[in-house]
Amino acid sequence: MKHPIFAGNWKLNHAPADAEQFMKVFLAHYPRRQDRTVLFFPPALTLPTVAALVNDRSDLAVGVQNIHWEDHGAFTGENSAAIAHGAGARYALIGHSERRHVFGETEEQTGLKVAAALRAGLTSIICVGETLEQRERGDTVRVVVRQLRAAVSRIQPSQIIGSLLAYEPVWAIGTGRTATPEDADAVHTALRAELGALTGDQGRAVPILYGGSVNRINAASLLAVPDVGGLLVGGASLEPEGWATLART
Ligand code: PEP
Repeated sequence: MKHPIFAGNWKLNHAPADAEQFMKVFLAHYPRRQDRTVLFFPPALTLPTVAALVNDRSDLAVGVQNIHWEDHGAFTGENSAAIAHGAGARYALIGHSERRHVFGETEEQTGLKVAAALRAGLTSIICVGETLEQRERGDTVRVVVRQLRAAVSRIQPSQIIGSLLAYEPVWAIGTGRTATPEDADAVHTALRAELGALTGDQGRAVPILYGGSVNRINAASLLAVPDVGGLLVGGASLEPEGWATLART
């Protein structure tokens, strides 16, 4: 029986006061459910506000959109995994395509960040995905497998089991174009085989979320793919009633 995870990435949206209003409406439309988990990824300064509002709900949790790979030091403007944990985060997005493609995050850095998350007790959601050019060259599986291997290169194989993966084709993020359920199935199957190879099979159970222009209309067909363990959603998680409806898919 699936226990889907619905993760809403707010990106650079919702200041603390907006988030309070958002959560009031969301909570009114989303009574507690034990058959799924809903995660919120607010901007770092909004995170404590959201964390305090979901504190008494075991079916809801908060994550940080990015962390630095060092635990402390002279890194002005950054947040460590431990600081995020102390502020109420329990999850961390690692290697989101905007970190890789807008901020130049390298595969080496994603590996360091996964290790940092683990040290601080955060669950990593490791994001992988190919660009349109890589897809058109037929390189999708090679690229996402390489990204996965780099992301887990600094932790023990047995530690991969506590992480989550998200397949997010770069060409589908914020574009209104989404992978078909068949596309998602093929890539998730390849990622699951790699997880098995990396962990001596135990890692095959790691949930793999799909992300990229998910909305209330396409969510059900993507979730119906056996290997899709949940959805990572940007734009469609920004409005509370709509997000509550999507999370009930
Ligand atoms: C994302 O930010 O991870 C994402 C998938 O965005 P969107 O749903 O807007 O494509």
